[in-house]
Formats: sequence, C-alpha cells, structure tokens
Amino acid sequence: MAGILFIISAPSGSGKSTLVSQLRTLVEGLDFSISYTTRAPRGSETDGREYHFTTREEFERMIAAGDFLEWAEVFGNYYGTAMSALGHAKDAGKDLLLDIDVQGAVQVMKKTPAAVSIFILPPSPQVLEMRLRNRSEAEHVTSEKVIQSRLAEARTELKQMWDYKYALVNDVLDQAVAELRAIVLCERGERDGVQALASSCRTDAASPRLQKAL
Ligand code: 5GP
Repeated sequence: MAGILFIISAPSGSGKSTLVSQLRTLVEGLDFSISYTTRAPRGSETDGREYHFTTREEFERMIAAGDFLEWAEVFGNYYGTAMSALGHAKDAGKDLLLDIDVQGAVQVMKKTPAAVSIFILPPSPQVLEMRLRNRSEAEHVTSEKVIQSRLAEARTELKQMWDYKYALVNDVLDQAVAELRAIVLCERGERDGVQALASSCRTDAASPRLQKAL
C-alpha cells in the first residue's frame, strides 16, 4: 500500500511545533522527516533529533548532488528535506510527515501532486505578532526593522493558505490536534477505500451479498 506524504506548514508564531509533536504521539505509522538546516541549534535542540545541523558548504554540496526532495532559504538559513526520507518511510511501510515552509511545500506539491498539504493558522493577527516578537526577543533580535520584516513575511505566507488542501486554526490546542488527527485518519480511510467498504454494508444499499444471506 502506498504511503501518504503529509506536508504541514505554518508561518512562525502559529504554534505548530506543539501541534505536530502531539500528533506524533497520537497517530501511529507516521514517520517524521528530520530536515537538514544551517541554522544553529536553539536551547536543548540536539543534532539528529530536531534537525540535522550542518554547514552552508555541506548543504550546498548536497544541493549540487541532488540529495534534496526540496530545500529553501528561510530567514537567511538553508532548510531541506533529504530525498532519503521518502525511502526510509516507504521501507518501514509508514506515511511521512514533512514540517516545511511554504516555499518547500510548493516544490513538493509540484513533484508529488498526491501529497496532502495542511496549513496551520495562528488564532489572530495580534497573537501572531505577539508570538513573533517573543521569539525574536528570545533570539536577542531587537532590531524593529528585522522584526517588521519577519512580520511582513508571516503575513505574506498566510495568503498562501489557499494552495493547501486543508487549513486549520490553532486557537484551542486540543481541537486543533483533533482536527489534524482527523485529517490524517480521513486521508488514510480514503486511500484504503474504508468509506466505500462501510457503505457497501449499509442496509439501505442492499448489496447482493446481503440479499443472498437472507
Ligand atoms: P525553525 O528554524 O523555527 O525550526 O524553522 C523555520 C521554518 O523552516 C519553519 O517554517 C519550518 O517549517 C521550516 N522548515 C523546517 N525544515 C524545513 C525543510 O526541510 N524545508 C523547508 N523548506 N522548510 C523547513
């Protein structure tokens, strides 16, 4: 059975990381692609767990070698999904989840039209601004110009929601997690023909098998 490729994107400040980590504990059979990045690790981030942290030189060598399914430059750093992530998920018989920005998502949608894309929206423009300011402060970014450019980038990204198959608002965490889980289960059901199978058992469908059994 073919695995499903799920793409999740959100402007930074949407609270996506909590959502994605909760989804991973609730849904089995979902492989998570660990991206390569040239940005420095934050806080307790560990190489090989949140990201494969690498240098610009190594990343550029990988681009030239065709090692990436997609890659993009986000806030001055490279981020990319290794082609090998697809093979690993396939060999393990799992679906694959990519947590990537909109530029990368567009590349994957073009290469793999069957990919299921999900966009996460922050609860409101005010919350988005507050989260972005908090994050910038945590990163010791104090320049109002830089903050404004991050805000502008996030607002531009929001408009790309329409390119995605699904969009959900991350206002009440439990609800957003339930919605995300429902999307995954629903897509799996569609792939496996679950709805058609259930419909064929409905009494009002009166299948020949059912009639013969009476
Ligand atoms: P952060 O540095 O906050 O972890 O991530 C910044 C942005 O980079 C997020 O929007 C995240 O989704 C995106 N990102 C993470 N990994 C990848 C990747 O492999 N490819 C692309 N295109 N974007 C990524």
